[in-house]
Amino acid sequence: MSSKVLDQFLETNLEDLKEKGLFSTIDVLEGSNGPIITVNGMKMINLASNNYLGFATRPELIEADVEATKHYGAGAGAVRTINGTLDIHQKLEEKIAEFKGTEAAIAFQSGFNCNMGAISAVMKKGDAILSDALNHASIIDGCRLSGAKIIRVNHQDMEDLEAKAKAATESGEYNKVMYITDGVFSMDGDVAKIPEIVEICEKYNIITYVDDAHGTGVMGKGRGTVKHFGMQDHIDFQMGTLSKGIGVVGGYVAGTKQLITWLKSQARPFLFSTSLTPGASGACIKAIELIEEHPEYVETLWENANYFKSELKRIGYDIGQSETPITPVIVGDEKLAQEFSKKLLENGVYVKPIVFPTVPLGTGRVRNMPNAGHTKEMLDDAIKVYEKVGKELGIIK
Ligand SMILES: *Cc1c(COP(=O)(O)O)cnc(C)c1O
Repeated sequence: MSSKVLDQFLETNLEDLKEKGLFSTIDVLEGSNGPIITVNGMKMINLASNNYLGFATRPELIEADVEATKHYGAGAGAVRTINGTLDIHQKLEEKIAEFKGTEAAIAFQSGFNCNMGAISAVMKKGDAILSDALNHASIIDGCRLSGAKIIRVNHQDMEDLEAKAKAATESGEYNKVMYITDGVFSMDGDVAKIPEIVEICEKYNIITYVDDAHGTGVMGKGRGTVKHFGMQDHIDFQMGTLSKGIGVVGGYVAGTKQLITWLKSQARPFLFSTSLTPGASGACIKAIELIEEHPEYVETLWENANYFKSELKRIGYDIGQSETPITPVIVGDEKLAQEFSKKLLENGVYVKPIVFPTVPLGTGRVRNMPNAGHTKEMLDDAIKVYEKVGKELGIIK
């Protein structure tokens, strides 16, 4: 029998979540997460995944995964520092470093635990972290865990960054200061102003950390936002995930040899959590090779995204100011956004509503993630549904 205290806590708080509209049910996909998915027996065009290049179901990656699994086994067997570092992990890290244009790299089991480990390995009590207001949850948690003072910077506001950078460094209160930002912001698709960030941070001697989860495989011919701006020698931490554009699972930091040596001796998820499976490592290496050898994957992603965006605009939707394939359709009202996505789902277009508190009040939306795996026919079918549903709900004329 479970504890009464626990039961009471769960009952009250689940009820509370539901009342506030913050409880979401989880759909089960019957089969793979490809461009077309099956949910409750219904086939739908999938515009909700982060599988930018379609690599999650790419045959070359599956083959590389199987091959590595056969050669090394299903699991790595230990944490990296005990004896869980296989040569395939080293190969993956060399590949990431080369891809990102840095001396070295370290791989983690996920992007989330990478942020938890990497930030707190370097930033401590007595330090300060300047953090963009719209940074990802894993950055926020990583900053909290570090014990450093967290100073929120208005979203992409370079004047605010400069003022707070100046104040933090000139106060003499902190041993060191870091600025941390998403490379591409996941809700609006806007891109961090890397050259301006570098200028400000170099002026005030601030450590720079870019989480490029949504930039890798997308920006800079797939190599990420930092490389897009040619700033790989000016950003201290190029952090990212292997689960979105790369299509598999895992996280990483690319940087100098000295930084990576430090992280390998200090980052707690590296020290106390078993390493990536050999299969995942092999598939990630293959993904990077494919991006390097076949620019057409990234090109197709952008062609599809640009086409889909222009069609949504043509039929009259507000798609915000995204600079990347992330395509919000902003309807404003929270209830309308929920109703909109429900109708889209019923008509075979799988998208998710995104409302307050994930985005500001009154900017309710559904978020589309067109990817390289979609065909023009799939996108056209989705547009037809958008036109029909939008007219029914009076969102477009
Ligand atoms: C998705 C995401 C992560 C987490 O990556 P996982 O590999 O899925 O754990 C971290 N940071 C940002 C900005 C993300 O969008």
